[in-house]
Amino acid sequence: MNLSSTLYTEYSFQIAFIWGRTLIDHTEYRAEIAAWLVDNCPAGARGPGQVANGSSKIELESDVAKWLEACVEQGLTAPTWPKEYGGGGLSNSEAKVFYEEMGKIKARSPLVGMGMSMIGPTLLEYGTDEQKQRHLPKIVRGEVQWCQGYSEPNAGSDLAALMSRAEDQGDHYEITGQKIWTSGAATADWMFILVRTDFDAPKHEGISFMLLTMDQPGVTVKPIQLISGISPFCETFFDSASALKEDLVGELNKGWTVGKRLLQFERSGIGGLSGGARPAQPGAGLVKVAKSYIGEVATDSTQTRILDPAIRQQVTTLNMNRSAFQLTAQRANEENKSGIPGAATSIFKLYGAALQQDGAALKRELMGFSGLGADNSAGFSDEELNTTSEWLGSKATTIYGGSNEIQANIIAKRVLGLPE
Ligand SMILES: Cc1cc2nc3c(=O)[nH]c(=O)nc-3n(C[C@H](O)[C@H](O)[C@H](O)COP(=O)(O)OP(=O)(O)OC[C@H]3O[C@@H](n4cnc5c(N)ncnc54)[C@H](O)[C@@H]3O)c2cc1C
Repeated sequence: MNLSSTLYTEYSFQIAFIWGRTLIDHTEYRAEIAAWLVDNCPAGARGPGQVANGSSKIELESDVAKWLEACVEQGLTAPTWPKEYGGGGLSNSEAKVFYEEMGKIKARSPLVGMGMSMIGPTLLEYGTDEQKQRHLPKIVRGEVQWCQGYSEPNAGSDLAALMSRAEDQGDHYEITGQKIWTSGAATADWMFILVRTDFDAPKHEGISFMLLTMDQPGVTVKPIQLISGISPFCETFFDSASALKEDLVGELNKGWTVGKRLLQFERSGIGGLSGGARPAQPGAGLVKVAKSYIGEVATDSTQTRILDPAIRQQVTTLNMNRSAFQLTAQRANEENKSGIPGAATSIFKLYGAALQQDGAALKRELMGFSGLGADNSAGFSDEELNTTSEWLGSKATTIYGGSNEIQANIIAKRVLGLPE
């Protein structure tokens, strides 16, 4: 699969989420930003395709690079972040107008990734001024790609069981151990990592949250091949790797609190709450796919509908669920003026993941055997190959960012207050 389609698969949900928003009023700013978008968003940065993620190891198509540069100049890669860190300093409602106007011309997100959606917001809440000054401007300018060093071979759902350790060496921390399922590690420049710094404390209390560069002799990355044919994630080994003392985020041994908050940002992205991270949006265009593969029937001289009533019902149900979910996410955002909610993000993660899987499965099913292509040697189109790949890739949505069962546990305990 080529890079563009990989990135489209991963980030199209964000774009569709933006396209799906209800328009709000903000007349003067709207006119201004609409004109700016027409002038500054090149044709090659509209519709599906490559999206910048900050990696210094991935070459950007020229229109994508131009679009990124234009947004960086205006602080529009992170519209609501403070201007002093390179953000746009916009209010939430202005940012919303910006997204709505982007949606009208199908402008792609100028920049995505864990810097924007996970470590950036976490540093804004927990970083020192010095850490914000050092890391945030590079994130908003798309100069660094970040990866997440949380899971270990024996610490996934039970993340606090992690055993990678960091030892104080006076001027730096020395990190030894192994992480697994590290998305993007092969192209990332920096990692945020959870490490054990106190082996005698109860497991949640001896963990610290640090930042380290990937390009150093003590870090080795080995890609893992997936069922969908791509290798977006890796095993990462640390052999006396080094993290600067000033890259400890929050207090020593109090990293669990920081790490949990970052997970809420991650889950809100997956669930479409922040419009900030990933899943594919396979529901988009389902009617078109159904008409083309199943057939259509005229309802009057200008309109048609899906031929098979049972399939029509399936497509309509899925699209209605998608709309209801997007409206609920939008309402939750508006109710949370102070930003991304806490444990309630698990509700959106749980349902958003299921919706994504259902949509991917239905689209593949509508295509019949054409939705089961492995490569284009047998004449499958790019859209058909992408559909197969999205369907296989969607299997992971109920696992990454914390599995369904873990989200259900959080909802039961932290949202509903049920006994353990
Ligand atoms: C595509 C993808 C990308 C990922 N990217 C990253 C990344 O960038 N960085 C990173 O650190 N990690 C990443 N992960 C790892 C991910 O966070 C873990 O896979 C996930 O947390 C589950 O952990 P595990 O795989 O060890 O499964 P396990 O924890 O072993 O769970 C196995 C099964 O047991 C169930 N289970 C476990 N505990 C309980 C419980 N208490 N109650 C009920 N059921 C339970 C789980 O729900 C699951 O079904 C990624 C995973 C995927 C699939």
